[in-house]
This record gives sequence, structure tokens and C-alpha cells, in this order.
Amino acid sequence: MIDDEFYTIASRALKENRFAKTIQVTGIAPTGLGPLVEWTASKSLDRKAKDPERLHSAPATAVLHVLSRTLAFRWRTGRPHCPIDWETRLSREFQDVVPWPPSVGPGWFWLVEGAADFLSQRMSSTRIVTHEIKEKYGTLRWEISTSNFSPEVDGYIDCIDILSGFICEECGAPGEIQTIRGRTRCRCLRCTGAAI
Ligand SMILES: [Zn+2]
Repeated sequence: MIDDEFYTIASRALKENRFAKTIQVTGIAPTGLGPLVEWTASKSLDRKAKDPERLHSAPATAVLHVLSRTLAFRWRTGRPHCPIDWETRLSREFQDVVPWPPSVGPGWFWLVEGAADFLSQRMSSTRIVTHEIKEKYGTLRWEISTSNFSPEVDGYIDCIDILSGFICEECGAPGEIQTIRGRTRCRCLRCTGAAI
């Protein structure tokens, strides 16, 4: 269920943060986005989290905020189901920030959708140009340029890069980086079994 996914992904993404075990889900609020996981944690939690390659970092609380948003999109209509036309749907609905179908697997649909929704709302104050949305070394890379420096836009992009290292690119369940047939991929156990 949504709270299990929240706990599993959060504990993996923040495994180097000893305050991660203080995270408690306090409720799941119905919102316009979908069911939003609400949580509390020790104030000391707010240290940097890093992606598996250690290229990007963001405050732990920001990572949890983006995770909660991503899962709201994923569980919006009950049991997660990725629409068959998800790539074209994204580029149609968010054409300003997703100008062409992203080159990633369907399990990252909700990460991209949540980010596209966030970025498109920021377009009124910051012009955002997407250059690429792709998978590299197992994580999601969203290359953008902006008309002015926006810490919240950069921060959101860092968070989805970090989270993609813990979300299966095939199905969206909690996953981990592994080497499959010589390639670095983020997969859950079930999808790893199917690929071997
Ligand atoms: Zn999977």
C-alpha cells in the first residue's frame, strides 16, 4: 500500500541519515493531486540525501516531500496502473516542460508526471527549457535550463534524480540499483527476476 511504499523508499533513500528511523506516517490526506502521505520526523532529519551515484544531493525533508507528491500521483486512482499511452499523455498534457515523450521506463511515469506538474506551475515566474529526460546509470536525468536561478526548481530536479535510484523503472514499486546483463538499472525484485 501507499504507506509501505513511502516507508521503503524513504528508508532506502535516507539510509545514511540516522534520523530516518524517526519518520512516522501520520495520515494520508485526500488532495487534488491524489492521496498525500503526511509524515513527521525528528528536526535533525534535515540533512542532505544523495543519489546512488552521489552526483546530486538535497535536504532529506525535500526528498520526502517529493516522494509524497510522487506517490499521490501513483495512487490517485486506487491501485497503481500506468496508462498504456503514458509517454504521449505526458507530452500532451505538459508540452511546455515535456516537449517530447521521455526516454525512460513506465515505472517512472509518476516521478515525471509529478515533476512536470510542479515545473509547469513555475513557468509563470521562471522560463524552463527541457533539453533531455532520460535514464543514465540507473537514475533519471532531467536536463533543463532556466531563465533565472530558481532553487526550488533545481531542488525538485535533484529530488527526482535521487528518488529514481530507489523506484523501479519498470513498475514504480520500491527498487534498488543493480547490474542486469552488464547494465546499471533500478529495478524491484520482481522485475529483476523477470529480466534474468
Ligand atoms: Zn518493478
